[in-house]
Amino acid sequence: MEVNCQGCAGCCLDWRPLLEADGESGGRQRTRSVPRDDDGGNEQAFSERVPLGGSYNFVALTRDEVRTFLERGMAAALTPRFWTVEDEREGVEVGDRHVAAVAGRPVFFVGLRKPPKPAAPFDREEATWLPACVFLDPTTLQCRIHGSDRFPDECGTYPEQTLALGAETECERVEARFGGDRLLERDHDEPDGLLFGPQALGAKLFCHPCPDELEGLLDRLERGEPSPTDRAECIAVAAASSPGTVAVSEPHYERALERLESDEPDGDAWIGPAIEEWYRTRPGEAVPDPELAAEIEDRRGAPETPGWD
Ligand code: SF4
Repeated sequence: MEVNCQGCAGCCLDWRPLLEADGESGGRQRTRSVPRDDDGGNEQAFSERVPLGGSYNFVALTRDEVRTFLERGMAAALTPRFWTVEDEREGVEVGDRHVAAVAGRPVFFVGLRKPPKPAAPFDREEATWLPACVFLDPTTLQCRIHGSDRFPDECGTYPEQTLALGAETECERVEARFGGDRLLERDHDEPDGLLFGPQALGAKLFCHPCPDELEGLLDRLERGEPSPTDRAECIAVAAASSPGTVAVSEPHYERALERLESDEPDGDAWIGPAIEEWYRTRPGEAVPDPELAAEIEDRRGAPETPGWD
């Protein structure tokens, strides 16, 4: 299949603030791999689940990818997403909310964080602060880890996975709102290893074994303020999960927590400090400049992007 990604990055950032700036209403939270009621997916199955944490177009990682990020010292890039449910039979009670659960265990994704970055996608002249993937270079609108062994499967199969589900792609949403030709053909290969249904359990959809311990974590997620401890807890459970089951290996969980606490610097040590600085920088920058990325990301060692040939 052929897509035209230059100047877009519509699937790597949350462009809904542009609609609000232009006087339109924004859309709802999306996860790339789960069809929503407004995606033409299974309305009955998905319409009552509301994401808790994460971000629009949340890129959910597999268990093995979470482990790779952990081993490379890249866990600062990760955050969890849970879901609240209206139908109590679909979930488990945690404090005053019901969260989606399997076998009485709250389920969650672990995916990539989106700190605010100044970006001007879709040929806009002025940049706007937009929640953007930790790995998106806002100056080139390209991915800093494309083609590397850390590039998430979900990004590599987008938008094929969405077309395979018969749902609307982000490319088409961008075309509808901002014009241009993004999705140049709809023919596509069948993406390998789509993790939906029971096979997602323990492989991409993780189960937390202790719902009673999650109330504070879910409160902070709802406020958009998960703590490093909250994120570490979910990353460790995900890394200790076993595909096809709800089981969590205690030794793997403990090792993951130790790795998270060891904070060993390596080539990707730029990630955490850059995210923190993006969050600190936003309030004081009335007219944002994508070139801030040179100071905040490049200077700290973020990989360069190849440019458009
Ligand atoms: S990892 Fe790369 S391709 Fe995937 S959302 Fe982030 S910037 Fe985009």
